[in-house]
Amino acid sequence: MNEFVAGPAVTGLLTSLRAFAIPMRTPFRGITVREGALIQGPAGWGEFSPFAEYGPKECARWLACAVEAATVGWPDPVRDSIPVNVTVPAVGPSQAHSLVTGSGCRTAKVKVAQRGQDDADDIARVEAVRDALGPAGRIRVDANGAWDVDHAQRMLSRLAPFGIEYVEQPCATLAELATLRRLVDVPLAADESIRRAEDPLRVRAAGAADIVVLKAAPLGGVRAALEIAEACGLPVVVSSAVESSVGLAAGAALAAALPGLPYDCGLATMSLLTGDVTADPLAAVGGELPVRRAEVDPERLAAFETDPQPWRDRAAAAARYLGTAG
Ligand SMILES: [Mg+2]
Repeated sequence: MNEFVAGPAVTGLLTSLRAFAIPMRTPFRGITVREGALIQGPAGWGEFSPFAEYGPKECARWLACAVEAATVGWPDPVRDSIPVNVTVPAVGPSQAHSLVTGSGCRTAKVKVAQRGQDDADDIARVEAVRDALGPAGRIRVDANGAWDVDHAQRMLSRLAPFGIEYVEQPCATLAELATLRRLVDVPLAADESIRRAEDPLRVRAAGAADIVVLKAAPLGGVRAALEIAEACGLPVVVSSAVESSVGLAAGAALAAALPGLPYDCGLATMSLLTGDVTADPLAAVGGELPVRRAEVDPERLAAFETDPQPWRDRAAAAARYLGTAG
Protein backbone atom coordinates (compact mmCIF):
# COMPACT_ATOMS: atom_id res chain seq x y z
CA MET A 1 0.00 0.00 0.00
CA ASN A 2 1.09 3.56 -0.70
CA GLU A 3 4.07 2.54 -2.76
CA PHE A 4 3.73 5.82 -4.61
CA VAL A 5 5.19 7.58 -1.59
CA ALA A 6 8.86 8.34 -2.04
CA GLY A 7 10.92 9.75 0.81
CA PRO A 8 12.47 12.75 -0.98
CA ALA A 9 9.11 13.69 -2.52
CA VAL A 10 7.55 13.86 0.93
CA THR A 11 10.40 15.99 2.25
CA GLY A 12 9.68 18.41 -0.59
CA LEU A 13 5.98 18.50 0.29
CA LEU A 14 6.75 19.35 3.90
CA THR A 15 8.21 22.72 2.90
CA SER A 16 4.66 23.68 1.84
CA LEU A 17 3.27 22.65 5.23
CA ARG A 18 0.98 25.05 7.09
CA ALA A 19 -0.45 24.40 10.55
CA PHE A 20 -3.86 25.30 11.97
CA ALA A 21 -5.75 25.25 15.27
CA ILE A 22 -9.53 25.64 15.01
CA PRO A 23 -11.60 25.90 18.21
CA MET A 24 -14.43 23.38 18.40
CA ARG A 25 -18.07 24.20 18.95
CA THR A 26 -18.58 20.86 20.68
CA PRO A 27 -15.77 19.01 22.47
CA PHE A 28 -14.78 15.74 20.78
CA ARG A 29 -12.54 13.05 22.29
CA GLY A 30 -11.92 15.53 25.09
CA ILE A 31 -10.36 18.10 22.77
CA THR A 32 -11.64 21.66 22.41
CA VAL A 33 -9.32 22.82 19.62
CA ARG A 34 -8.77 20.77 16.44
CA GLU A 35 -5.15 21.05 15.38
CA GLY A 36 -3.49 19.82 12.23
CA ALA A 37 -1.42 20.63 9.18
CA LEU A 38 -1.97 21.04 5.46
CA ILE A 39 0.39 20.18 2.64
CA GLN A 40 0.11 21.26 -0.97
CA GLY A 41 1.21 19.19 -3.95
CA PRO A 42 0.49 18.89 -7.65
CA ALA A 43 -2.95 17.34 -7.08
CA GLY A 44 -4.06 19.85 -4.44
CA TRP A 45 -4.13 20.11 -0.64
CA GLY A 46 -3.92 17.26 1.83
CA GLU A 47 -4.55 17.25 5.57
CA PHE A 48 -2.28 15.72 8.23
CA SER A 49 -4.08 15.93 11.57
CA PRO A 50 -3.37 12.88 13.74
CA PHE A 51 -4.46 13.29 17.35
CA ALA A 52 -1.82 14.44 19.84
CA GLU A 53 -1.34 11.05 21.51
CA TYR A 54 -0.36 9.23 18.29
CA GLY A 55 3.29 8.32 17.75
CA PRO A 56 5.22 8.48 14.47
CA LYS A 57 4.29 4.98 13.31
CA GLU A 58 0.56 5.61 13.72
CA CYS A 59 0.97 9.11 12.22
CA ALA A 60 2.48 7.58 9.07
CA ARG A 61 -0.95 6.40 7.92
CA TRP A 62 -2.38 9.89 8.39
CA LEU A 63 0.58 11.27 6.45
CA ALA A 64 0.04 8.75 3.65
CA CYS A 65 -3.56 10.02 3.36
CA ALA A 66 -2.33 13.64 3.11
CA VAL A 67 0.38 12.73 0.58
CA GLU A 68 -2.12 10.81 -1.56
CA ALA A 69 -4.42 13.85 -1.60
CA ALA A 70 -1.57 16.21 -2.51
CA THR A 71 0.22 14.09 -5.08
CA VAL A 72 -2.07 11.68 -6.92
CA GLY A 73 -5.59 12.59 -5.84
CA TRP A 74 -8.35 10.02 -5.49
CA PRO A 75 -9.97 7.26 -7.55
CA ASP A 76 -12.91 8.20 -9.73
CA PRO A 77 -16.15 8.59 -7.78
CA VAL A 78 -19.17 6.43 -8.56
CA ARG A 79 -21.54 8.96 -6.94
CA ASP A 80 -21.38 12.74 -6.73
CA SER A 81 -22.91 13.34 -3.33
CA ILE A 82 -22.89 11.42 -0.06
CA PRO A 83 -25.94 11.07 2.18
CA VAL A 84 -24.91 11.88 5.75
CA ASN A 85 -26.34 11.59 9.23
CA VAL A 86 -26.92 14.35 11.74
CA THR A 87 -25.25 13.56 15.07
CA VAL A 88 -27.32 14.09 18.18
CA PRO A 89 -25.16 14.47 21.29
CA ALA A 90 -26.38 13.56 24.77
CA VAL A 91 -28.82 16.47 24.94
CA GLY A 92 -32.40 16.60 26.23
CA PRO A 93 -35.36 15.49 24.08
CA SER A 94 -36.49 18.93 22.91
CA GLN A 95 -32.99 19.96 21.83
CA ALA A 96 -32.55 16.59 20.11
CA HIS A 97 -35.83 17.14 18.26
CA SER A 98 -34.88 20.60 16.97
CA LEU A 99 -31.35 19.48 16.01
CA VAL A 100 -32.77 16.76 13.79
CA THR A 101 -35.54 18.90 12.33
CA GLY A 102 -33.07 21.66 11.45
CA SER A 103 -30.52 19.31 9.88
CA GLY A 104 -32.35 18.29 6.73
CA CYS A 105 -30.94 14.76 7.24
CA ARG A 106 -33.04 11.60 6.89
CA THR A 107 -30.71 9.74 9.23
CA ALA A 108 -29.72 10.57 12.81
CA LYS A 109 -26.94 9.14 14.93
CA VAL A 110 -27.95 9.40 18.57
CA LYS A 111 -25.29 9.28 21.25
CA VAL A 112 -26.27 7.05 24.16
CA ALA A 113 -24.68 5.66 27.33
CA GLN A 114 -22.95 8.94 28.12
CA ARG A 115 -21.49 9.26 31.61
CA GLY A 116 -23.78 11.05 34.03
CA GLN A 117 -26.99 10.03 32.24
CA ASP A 118 -29.27 7.06 32.70
CA ASP A 119 -31.19 4.73 30.41
CA ALA A 120 -34.35 6.84 30.63
CA ASP A 121 -32.43 9.84 29.20
CA ASP A 122 -31.33 7.73 26.22
CA ILE A 123 -34.81 6.39 25.58
CA ALA A 124 -36.39 9.85 25.78
CA ARG A 125 -33.79 11.20 23.32
CA VAL A 126 -34.32 8.39 20.82
CA GLU A 127 -38.10 8.79 21.12
CA ALA A 128 -37.80 12.53 20.36
CA VAL A 129 -35.55 11.82 17.37
CA ARG A 130 -38.03 9.28 15.97
CA ASP A 131 -40.77 11.86 16.33
CA ALA A 132 -38.62 14.46 14.49
CA LEU A 133 -37.63 12.11 11.65
CA GLY A 134 -40.99 10.47 11.11
CA PRO A 135 -41.41 6.79 10.35
CA ALA A 136 -39.23 6.84 7.19
CA GLY A 137 -36.16 8.28 8.95
CA ARG A 138 -33.31 6.09 10.11
CA ILE A 139 -31.89 6.06 13.61
CA ARG A 140 -28.58 4.60 14.64
CA VAL A 141 -27.34 4.79 18.21
CA ASP A 142 -23.70 5.08 19.28
CA ALA A 143 -22.65 3.89 22.75
CA ASN A 144 -18.90 4.39 22.20
CA GLY A 145 -18.23 1.02 23.85
CA ALA A 146 -19.80 1.99 27.18
CA TRP A 147 -22.25 -0.87 27.76
CA ASP A 148 -21.52 -4.38 28.98
CA VAL A 149 -23.31 -7.20 27.17
CA ASP A 150 -26.27 -7.39 29.57
CA HIS A 151 -26.82 -3.66 29.57
CA ALA A 152 -26.59 -3.49 25.79
CA GLN A 153 -29.08 -6.33 25.36
CA ARG A 154 -31.49 -4.71 27.81
CA MET A 155 -31.24 -1.28 26.18
CA LEU A 156 -31.54 -2.58 22.63
CA SER A 157 -34.76 -4.35 23.49
CA ARG A 158 -36.13 -1.13 25.02
CA LEU A 159 -35.01 0.94 22.01
CA ALA A 160 -36.20 -1.55 19.38
CA PRO A 161 -39.79 -0.18 19.28
CA PHE A 162 -38.40 3.11 17.91
CA GLY A 163 -36.76 1.31 14.97
CA ILE A 164 -32.97 1.13 15.20
CA GLU A 165 -30.98 0.81 11.97
CA TYR A 166 -27.86 -0.34 13.85
CA VAL A 167 -25.96 0.20 17.08
CA GLU A 168 -22.42 1.53 16.86
CA GLN A 169 -19.85 0.04 19.24
CA PRO A 170 -22.30 -1.01 21.97
CA CYS A 171 -19.51 -2.75 23.91
CA ALA A 172 -15.77 -2.20 24.06
CA THR A 173 -14.23 -5.57 23.15
CA LEU A 174 -14.55 -7.88 20.15
CA ALA A 175 -15.50 -10.77 22.46
CA GLU A 176 -18.37 -8.78 23.97
CA LEU A 177 -19.55 -7.62 20.54
CA ALA A 178 -19.51 -11.19 19.24
CA THR A 179 -21.52 -12.40 22.25
CA LEU A 180 -24.03 -9.56 21.97
CA ARG A 181 -24.42 -10.11 18.25
CA ARG A 182 -25.76 -13.61 18.90
CA LEU A 183 -28.30 -12.25 21.40
CA VAL A 184 -29.90 -9.35 19.53
CA ASP A 185 -31.52 -8.67 16.15
CA VAL A 186 -30.20 -5.11 15.76
CA PRO A 187 -27.10 -5.03 13.50
CA LEU A 188 -23.84 -4.05 15.21
CA ALA A 189 -21.27 -1.64 13.77
CA ALA A 190 -17.62 -1.58 14.86
CA ASP A 191 -16.05 1.88 15.24
CA GLU A 192 -13.53 2.12 18.10
CA SER A 193 -12.60 -1.54 17.40
CA ILE A 194 -11.10 -0.33 14.12
CA ARG A 195 -7.93 1.68 14.50
CA ARG A 196 -5.51 -0.06 12.15
CA ALA A 197 -5.56 -1.62 8.72
CA GLU A 198 -5.82 -5.18 10.05
CA ASP A 199 -8.69 -4.46 12.46
CA PRO A 200 -11.62 -4.78 10.02
CA LEU A 201 -10.45 -8.31 9.20
CA ARG A 202 -10.19 -9.11 12.91
CA VAL A 203 -13.71 -7.77 13.46
CA ARG A 204 -15.02 -9.97 10.69
CA ALA A 205 -13.09 -13.05 11.83
CA ALA A 206 -14.43 -12.63 15.37
CA GLY A 207 -18.00 -12.35 14.10
CA ALA A 208 -18.11 -9.13 16.10
CA ALA A 209 -20.04 -6.83 13.76
CA ASP A 210 -22.31 -6.58 10.73
CA ILE A 211 -20.96 -3.19 9.60
CA VAL A 212 -17.56 -1.47 9.82
CA VAL A 213 -17.00 2.26 10.34
CA LEU A 214 -13.97 3.33 8.29
CA LYS A 215 -12.06 6.61 8.26
CA ALA A 216 -9.68 7.55 5.45
CA ALA A 217 -6.83 9.15 7.39
CA PRO A 218 -6.17 6.54 10.12
CA LEU A 219 -6.25 3.78 7.48
CA GLY A 220 -3.62 5.40 5.24
CA GLY A 221 -5.73 7.17 2.64
CA VAL A 222 -8.57 6.56 0.21
CA ARG A 223 -6.97 3.75 -1.79
CA ALA A 224 -5.76 1.94 1.32
CA ALA A 225 -9.22 2.20 2.91
CA LEU A 226 -10.86 0.91 -0.28
CA GLU A 227 -8.55 -2.12 -0.26
CA ILE A 228 -9.36 -2.72 3.40
CA ALA A 229 -13.09 -2.44 2.72
CA GLU A 230 -12.83 -4.93 -0.12
CA ALA A 231 -10.76 -7.38 1.91
CA CYS A 232 -13.15 -7.12 4.86
CA GLY A 233 -16.29 -7.56 2.79
CA LEU A 234 -18.68 -6.05 5.36
CA PRO A 235 -20.81 -2.98 4.51
CA VAL A 236 -18.96 0.26 5.26
CA VAL A 237 -20.04 3.50 6.92
CA VAL A 238 -17.47 6.21 6.18
CA SER A 239 -16.85 8.57 9.04
CA SER A 240 -14.62 11.58 9.59
CA ALA A 241 -11.93 12.26 12.16
CA VAL A 242 -13.39 15.77 12.53
CA GLU A 243 -10.97 17.29 10.05
CA SER A 244 -11.12 20.63 8.27
CA SER A 245 -12.83 20.54 4.88
CA VAL A 246 -9.51 19.52 3.30
CA GLY A 247 -9.39 16.28 5.30
CA LEU A 248 -13.14 15.78 5.09
CA ALA A 249 -12.83 15.72 1.30
CA ALA A 250 -10.78 12.51 1.58
CA GLY A 251 -13.62 10.89 3.54
CA ALA A 252 -16.10 12.05 0.90
CA ALA A 253 -13.82 10.63 -1.81
CA LEU A 254 -13.72 7.28 -0.01
CA ALA A 255 -17.50 7.18 0.33
CA ALA A 256 -17.83 8.25 -3.31
CA ALA A 257 -15.57 5.45 -4.58
CA LEU A 258 -17.03 2.51 -2.62
CA PRO A 259 -18.94 0.17 -4.95
CA GLY A 260 -21.88 0.04 -2.54
CA LEU A 261 -22.98 2.55 0.08
CA PRO A 262 -26.02 1.09 1.85
CA TYR A 263 -25.78 3.36 4.91
CA ASP A 264 -25.57 7.13 5.27
CA CYS A 265 -22.15 8.37 6.34
CA GLY A 266 -20.79 10.24 9.36
CA LEU A 267 -19.19 13.07 7.42
CA ALA A 268 -21.34 16.03 8.49
CA THR A 269 -18.79 17.14 11.04
CA MET A 270 -17.81 20.62 9.83
CA SER A 271 -20.55 21.93 12.11
CA LEU A 272 -18.46 20.82 15.10
CA LEU A 273 -15.75 23.37 14.23
CA THR A 274 -16.04 27.15 14.63
CA GLY A 275 -14.27 27.81 11.35
CA ASP A 276 -12.53 26.32 8.34
CA VAL A 277 -9.47 26.78 6.15
CA THR A 278 -11.55 27.17 2.99
CA ALA A 279 -14.03 29.78 1.84
CA ASP A 280 -16.36 27.02 0.62
CA PRO A 281 -16.65 24.44 3.44
CA LEU A 282 -17.64 20.85 2.78
CA ALA A 283 -20.94 21.16 4.62
CA ALA A 284 -24.02 19.02 4.20
CA VAL A 285 -27.02 20.54 2.46
CA GLY A 286 -30.33 18.72 2.69
CA GLY A 287 -28.56 15.73 4.24
CA GLU A 288 -26.09 15.39 1.35
CA LEU A 289 -22.38 16.19 1.28
CA PRO A 290 -20.89 17.20 -2.09
CA VAL A 291 -18.01 15.13 -3.45
CA ARG A 292 -15.28 17.62 -4.28
CA ARG A 293 -11.96 18.92 -3.08
CA ALA A 294 -11.54 21.88 -0.76
CA GLU A 295 -9.22 24.72 -1.73
CA VAL A 296 -7.36 26.44 1.07
CA ASP A 297 -8.23 30.12 1.31
CA PRO A 298 -5.22 32.15 2.57
CA GLU A 299 -7.36 34.55 4.59
CA ARG A 300 -9.38 31.80 6.30
CA LEU A 301 -6.23 29.84 7.04
CA ALA A 302 -4.55 32.97 8.45
CA ALA A 303 -7.31 33.27 11.06
CA PHE A 304 -6.37 29.86 12.51
CA GLU A 305 -2.72 29.55 11.54
CA THR A 306 -0.11 28.36 14.02
CA ASP A 307 3.64 27.62 13.99
CA PRO A 308 4.26 24.94 11.33
CA GLN A 309 7.58 23.72 12.76
CA PRO A 310 6.23 21.22 15.34
CA TRP A 311 3.99 19.73 12.63
CA ARG A 312 6.83 19.63 10.12
CA ASP A 313 8.88 17.69 12.70
CA ARG A 314 5.97 15.37 13.41
CA ALA A 315 5.41 14.70 9.71
CA ALA A 316 9.13 14.13 9.11
CA ALA A 317 9.18 11.58 11.96
CA ALA A 318 6.11 9.86 10.51
CA ALA A 319 7.60 9.87 6.99
CA ARG A 320 10.23 7.35 8.13
CA TYR A 321 7.43 4.79 8.52
CA LEU A 322 5.73 5.44 5.19
CA GLY A 323 5.27 2.31 3.15
CA THR A 324 5.91 0.02 6.11
CA ALA A 325 3.22 -2.37 7.27
CA GLY A 326 1.06 -1.43 10.23
MG1 LIG B 1 -18.72 6.02 16.91
